[in-house]
Amino acid sequence: MTRDDWNKALQAAPTGLYIDGEWREASGGGTIAVHDPGTGEPLREVADATPADALAALDAAEAAGPGWAATPPRERGEVLRRAYQAIHDHIDELALLCTLEMGKSLAESKTEVAYAAEFYRWFAEEAVRIEGTFARSPSNNDRLLTMRQPVGPCLLITPWNFPLAMGSRKIGPAVAAGCTMVLKPAKLTPLSMLRLTEIMADAGLPKGVLNVVTSRSASAVTKPLMDDPRLRKVSFTGSTPVGRTLMEQGSRNLLRLSMELGGNAPFLVFDDADLDAAVAGAVVAKMRNNGESCVAANRFHVQEGVAEEFTRRLAEKLSALKVGHGAEEGTQVGPLVDADQRDKVVELVTDATDKGAKVVTGGDAPDGPGFFYRPTVLSGLSEDARILREEVFGPVAPITTFGTEAEALELANGTEFGLVAYVYTRELNRSLRVSEALDTGMVGLNTGLVSNPAAPFGGIKASGFGREGGRDGIAEYLNTKYVAVSTG
Ligand code: NAP
Repeated sequence: MTRDDWNKALQAAPTGLYIDGEWREASGGGTIAVHDPGTGEPLREVADATPADALAALDAAEAAGPGWAATPPRERGEVLRRAYQAIHDHIDELALLCTLEMGKSLAESKTEVAYAAEFYRWFAEEAVRIEGTFARSPSNNDRLLTMRQPVGPCLLITPWNFPLAMGSRKIGPAVAAGCTMVLKPAKLTPLSMLRLTEIMADAGLPKGVLNVVTSRSASAVTKPLMDDPRLRKVSFTGSTPVGRTLMEQGSRNLLRLSMELGGNAPFLVFDDADLDAAVAGAVVAKMRNNGESCVAANRFHVQEGVAEEFTRRLAEKLSALKVGHGAEEGTQVGPLVDADQRDKVVELVTDATDKGAKVVTGGDAPDGPGFFYRPTVLSGLSEDARILREEVFGPVAPITTFGTEAEALELANGTEFGLVAYVYTRELNRSLRVSEALDTGMVGLNTGLVSNPAAPFGGIKASGFGREGGRDGIAEYLNTKYVAVSTG
């Protein structure tokens, strides 16, 4: 990739607000700078929406609502299918935008773009399978008819770590269900989503169905929408504290909510595990997206018999990864998204080492420019190390040991989070027993990757509720209506 390619992709990205099928500047004229985390340099300025702009976006979503809900499901699905194809036609450009604004390597960005597109393909197929039921009442005096209808205008709020996929995972089912929406991307990474919005318009999405507002202050544009009775649903992906705030705000108008929140995934390795597979899975579960993923393995609990070997082999793999600017040839680990994120990783590693942890590999932040942190393995952690309880969101693997299955489960479940857990064992009974006993919405059994558009992604406890993807994904955007039918 040359600087020319960078500039071309950056110049092609729209930077305005997308409201009612038109690109506009913010009504206050403000803009926000988007930076390259690999250099710290500014890339482009995008519009800084005002509350009035956000309400104009809701006006457009509300106006488009009835027409879009009445559009034949096949047509809604066809828009998604065309957008799926168009994303693949623009995969290099979209991946480059993701890398430039978020930091991860181009290879990772391409994987994200393809993953983002898959949600459109999946939900294009789901659009025509929105079913109801018809049943006899137990007394046989009535017939019970149910139908499923779009919930109405939605607010979709997405984080910076997967700037495209976290959006398409919401837009896909909303479009398929017949909902209209206002989407607010994270201010750190709006460019790829703005370009995707343009691609959706070119694919035939009618005006007003998808409106996108970028803003320096998230709450300044989301709060007026949540207070407006025309909004019917919020789907949020982000941190648990912000999720809690949005739940409180959503209670006023009793909004439907989907909450995809933080994680603290345990990665369990039993003595009987296939160690080659466990190490390979650990690299994926830890290093995907530079560790900046809600499903990243946050802590490794390894049974005593294989702990030393596992630690040595994981450290060997992580220390061999090439760290560099995401858009440079051969980079495997890019920078973290900004200085705050890098400083948080430094703080958690320092806390762990101050409490006695040993750095097996890495453990430092190379000098700038850019917000890099070297892939790191820590062992010998004390129980009160913060990194075992807090989401590190970076390339750091803390390893602790356990003796028995019961101890492993106690460690794994000893967190307020409940998104995903990984388990490596070759014993069938244990696989099922442990999978059942884990307090999480998802389990990776002998795999380090659970994300799949055809599967219900989501958590329990402080990791939220609601499911994205799979058969369940579209249900988040549908209300069930029951009609009592008299046969008398
Ligand atoms: P975040 O700070 O909660 O932000 C997420 C989104 O919410 C951004 O668009 C942000 O806008 C917006 N936001 C922030 N404060 C808000 C407020 N008061 N009202 C309304 N919107 C607000 O999270 P993040 O740091 O971007 O993302 C990392 C977190 O997301 C991690 O905890 C990770 O585990 C979680 N995550 C979860 C999943 C999942 O599926 N469970 C997937 C990916 C990430 P600005 O950024 O523009 O301020």
